[in-house]
Amino acid sequence: MLEKVPVTHVAGIGPAKTKALAELGIHDVAALLTHFPYRYDDLRIRPLLSYADGDRVRVQVTINGSPKLRWQNGKSILQAPVLVDFQTPAYAMWFNQHYLQKRLREGEVVILQGKWSERYRRIAVSHTEFGNQRLRSEEAAMYPVYRSSKQISSPQIAAFIQQALAQFQDQIVDLLPLELRQRYKLVNRYEALLAMHRPRTREELRQAHRRLAFEEFFLFQLQLQRYRVQAKLQSDGVVRHVPSDVFEKFADALEGFTLTDGQYDAMQEIYHDLNSPRAMTRLLQGDVGSGKTWVAFFAAYAMVRAGWQVAMMAPTEILAEQHLLEARKRLEPLGVRVALLTGSTGIRERREILALLAAHQVDLLLGTHALLTGDVEFARLGLVITDEQHRFGVAQRGTLQEKGERTDILYLSATPIPRTLALAIYGDLDVSVIRERPKGRQPVRTYWLRSSEEDKAVRMVRRELAKGRQAYIVAPLVEDSEKLEATSAVSLYEQMQSHLAGYRVSMLHGRQSAKEKDAIMRSFIAGEIQALVSTTVIEVGIDVPNATIMLIYHAQRFGLAQLHQLRGRVGRGANASFCILLGDPPGDVAKQRLETMVGTDDGFLIAEKDLELRGPGEFLGVRQSGLPEFTVGDLARDLNIMQVARDEAEKLLQENEFWLLPVYEGLRKHLFEADSAGLKY
Ligand code: ADP
Ligand code: MG
Repeated sequence: MLEKVPVTHVAGIGPAKTKALAELGIHDVAALLTHFPYRYDDLRIRPLLSYADGDRVRVQVTINGSPKLRWQNGKSILQAPVLVDFQTPAYAMWFNQHYLQKRLREGEVVILQGKWSERYRRIAVSHTEFGNQRLRSEEAAMYPVYRSSKQISSPQIAAFIQQALAQFQDQIVDLLPLELRQRYKLVNRYEALLAMHRPRTREELRQAHRRLAFEEFFLFQLQLQRYRVQAKLQSDGVVRHVPSDVFEKFADALEGFTLTDGQYDAMQEIYHDLNSPRAMTRLLQGDVGSGKTWVAFFAAYAMVRAGWQVAMMAPTEILAEQHLLEARKRLEPLGVRVALLTGSTGIRERREILALLAAHQVDLLLGTHALLTGDVEFARLGLVITDEQHRFGVAQRGTLQEKGERTDILYLSATPIPRTLALAIYGDLDVSVIRERPKGRQPVRTYWLRSSEEDKAVRMVRRELAKGRQAYIVAPLVEDSEKLEATSAVSLYEQMQSHLAGYRVSMLHGRQSAKEKDAIMRSFIAGEIQALVSTTVIEVGIDVPNATIMLIYHAQRFGLAQLHQLRGRVGRGANASFCILLGDPPGDVAKQRLETMVGTDDGFLIAEKDLELRGPGEFLGVRQSGLPEFTVGDLARDLNIMQVARDEAEKLLQENEFWLLPVYEGLRKHLFEADSAGLKY
């Protein structure tokens, strides 16, 4: 397994480069081979005539005189007369590359890349290639460019990858069954890798891509369908015999609040699922704040009335505790016995809860990942609910499911996933959608201000704080760097301490420990902190009705979906809420994003607009999108590949041979290893 071979085994990679690769997240040969180019450049040489003034050119020149070196303000300038394309006289200039003086010999033919100035007949050279390193023209047409760093350049990475491909060719295993490869005309893995890193034609690249996307989707689907297929083989679902008075009883527990139509419809659907012989696998989608928790509680209540236990898992302790508070209010009066189990539950209390659970004296067990451990045993588990579904791995959800027999499943998600996409990924999953917000909820008033109007924005924040309300202040997004993001949050926090003098301000960012974050979030929920400066780490599901204003710095840097998710943390109470987007969008698209935010707070509309503005690939790729992330495959572009991969994975899992024959051993192993790695989707 090349996952276990460190990059030091590749000839030519020494300690310095090992470190540089590690900083790019590349530790083993497998990772090196799948460090794919993010773009391909056309580096073919063209005649000078085909370029215009100011173009970046790539031309062939003959050095036509001895190069002269001079220094200016401590910088070197090397200049030589050249003959371009064996005919056009010009000059070449190299800045800070004086070491080239010795290498450039009169009469030598080299390739220069750089900027062309028609007026001075001069090439400002950025890159020089000598005869021995010249690219073959077929390689030059699509020259790979890799994510690189100061310590290791893209061409160096390219060279190491080529070396690794040559050195480890025999050890590159192809997990895809031969039969599938033949049927779908997929190139083998080695060929695919070779073509990704050094494509000779567009078609070759396309085929490599198709093959790798298929593999990625297929392995993902094997994981995903594994539990489903097993459940199906075991038997169909169970008719739960939920009594019909559950609607009325549950409504009573809401103390005068009326359910929205969307909530009611979803409850009906769940009720029918539970009372039908088909097993339930339902995804409940609803915008942030749409009231998914109550629907989930209804499902729990219905199951409990039918005599079964329910598990409800949330990604963080704070969310799980929030569930507990709400369950005490809504479900305990209906006779549901509720308990909470998290990583911080004390040993004695934990033991007690587990005993009660096994004796069926707890009906609804709320909690975090702590529910997954082996000693958590239910007497009669019938339903598993997963909140913020995408935050859990496939295997994690499977583990909880398997604590019961033929358990029904309800996933909650705030991400609007287009139906075609949901089907392609999840197959026969049923979807309920809550479209509207609870009544009496005022829409969040959203304003877009230029960064020069920061004063005004801060005044609005102070006005809310003066009323006893709370505020979120979101620091600029720094793509791909948690460290820089933290730094920007810290400096914003310092500013806010003076802007909001007299109020208690605190700060939250990704570099704090989980415990620290937790404590800060708790004091914000308790109202001890009035303004919270934060990066995007603020919990999605968090419900602080007293927080009525959110101020987002450099709003133009966020994606629409992300802005919308952030905004969802305010507007959760009866009071008017505000969202202020501070930012100077650099272009039309960024401007339209902010305008869309001002114009609507319907998450589904925003998702559609986002698709339109950014192109599907981008929308789906954003952080927090709630969808699986793939390296090669693109859900928007390769949806048909996903469908095929899904069907094939499902078919294979149902064949006995898959579990028995040695040819499938690699795949089976992958399945179990991915299991422990906690593959996400
Ligand atoms: P989400 O869908 O984001 O998980 P929650 O379930 O946390 O939303 O609900 C947001 C808030 O709205 C909670 O405080 C909840 O008690 C309240 N709520 C839910 N449904 C209704 C309703 N029908 N009427 C009034 N308030 C509601
Ligand atoms: Mg929620």
